[in-house]
Amino acid sequence: MTAMLGPAWTVKPDTPDDTGRQPLAVETVIGAHAAALLPGVITTTPHARYLALHARLAVEAQHRGWTSKADLGRFHALVRRAEVVLGAVSVAHGDADDGHWLRAGSFGVHGVNTIRPELHRQQTIDVGRTADVYSRVRGGYLQTYSGIEAVLGLTDGARIPAPGPAADVERLAALDEALNVAERDKPLSVADLDALRHLCVCAVGDAPDGACVRGAYFAGSGGSGAVGAHRRSATLLVGALTEEHVDGESVDMAMDRWCCFRRGLSDLVGEDVHAHALVWRGALLRNWSVWAWRLIWARLVSPLSSTGTLEHAVAEFVRTLPNATVREVLIDGLPSVVDDIGTPLPVEHDLYDEVPDDGDWTVLGMLQLLAVGARRLEHLDPAARRAFADEASDDLGPGYVASWLTRNADRRLAEAVADLAKELFHRAESVSRQKMQWTRYGLRLPTRLRRVGDQWRLEGREGRGAVSLRLPTFTNVMQQLGVLGYDGTIWHPGRYAVEVTS
Ligand SMILES: [Zn+2]
Repeated sequence: MTAMLGPAWTVKPDTPDDTGRQPLAVETVIGAHAAALLPGVITTTPHARYLALHARLAVEAQHRGWTSKADLGRFHALVRRAEVVLGAVSVAHGDADDGHWLRAGSFGVHGVNTIRPELHRQQTIDVGRTADVYSRVRGGYLQTYSGIEAVLGLTDGARIPAPGPAADVERLAALDEALNVAERDKPLSVADLDALRHLCVCAVGDAPDGACVRGAYFAGSGGSGAVGAHRRSATLLVGALTEEHVDGESVDMAMDRWCCFRRGLSDLVGEDVHAHALVWRGALLRNWSVWAWRLIWARLVSPLSSTGTLEHAVAEFVRTLPNATVREVLIDGLPSVVDDIGTPLPVEHDLYDEVPDDGDWTVLGMLQLLAVGARRLEHLDPAARRAFADEASDDLGPGYVASWLTRNADRRLAEAVADLAKELFHRAESVSRQKMQWTRYGLRLPTRLRRVGDQWRLEGREGRGAVSLRLPTFTNVMQQLGVLGYDGTIWHPGRYAVEVTS
């Protein structure tokens, strides 16, 4: 069986620290849902005040008439210095605590790993020198945020951005001081930074530039069409988190409980928001299936860390499965997925609760997760089902699992799963070939599996984390903007929640 994969698959593995790989290519559907449900954040944009700062910098570039290629260097220099000021003020305020973390959330400010040691060592920040090193990207974090800023209408997203329709110049003037300080040569002392704490990332909620950013998300001043999605998603998030103790990592679980498993949700949130909740329901439930595939692949290839044959990896994968048929275990053996009135039951959460603290799912648990997804096809209402099944794409969706279960119902579980595992190796090879590209080092195939004679070796470790629906980032932005509040123990609607949910 070792001949089933061509040697070209082994050309050049990704580096061990290469993240975000998708060896089975099952994740695209989740990214598409996230982009539609939360168009105004990506996972790397957790700080609302950078949105305002970049909009203010766009106003500045326009004011100074910066448009040419030569101006780009000047613009980037100003962006970098201004980001260092914002970062340094926030690091200093975070060190002083003073309620900072309750309002800023748990994401470190951009450049913190450069700024904090510098501040601790010198007790000052040399803005120019720190600006040279806090980010390896020329335009600092502007590149990270610029797509989102264009969606929100804060800028036009260009390399030297122009202010967008949501850039309220008067409100953004609250950041004038940040730009003035950025261009000074005198290093900033801790006392200087303390005196600037109204410019901290945690202070944006009550500042005029924060009102500008809230307007961009929720008031339609950007005219991007994303406003409705933001309003409805924020309404659901506030409902999902209120009275909850969750930390950042389990926002998805709280959103599950609210959008997927809450009885009588439509009475609580109204028809319009409920329709949106059903799309969330489909996306959230689908993400469990996508996660199951990622877990399965990571476990399947893990024996190859110490070199081995694919037969060995497959045998190891099915070793602990019960001696029973597919039907007995994954069809008849499944618990009910809905209650007596058709509300989904949290079967995925029950399976998750059985996982030990080290995160090692059993192979059976992963397969049950997939089978539960297939079963849900029969029970979801049409709007949620459309989002859940996404039948247009060939990405091992619940329809694929349902037909696999039907085809293999009367086979021994271990045999059927062994064949499935072999199919996954073929699929991963094919995915890798599709992503193949020429580089200056030759042909590059994005895979961690290398062939060594008739043996295979896994370089590094495959990711087994769930794909992000961007909820932790959105939560952080909403917390900073005062749409959500956190008292250190539980969440509650923030002082500006009514702007969104009314
Ligand atoms: Zn602060």
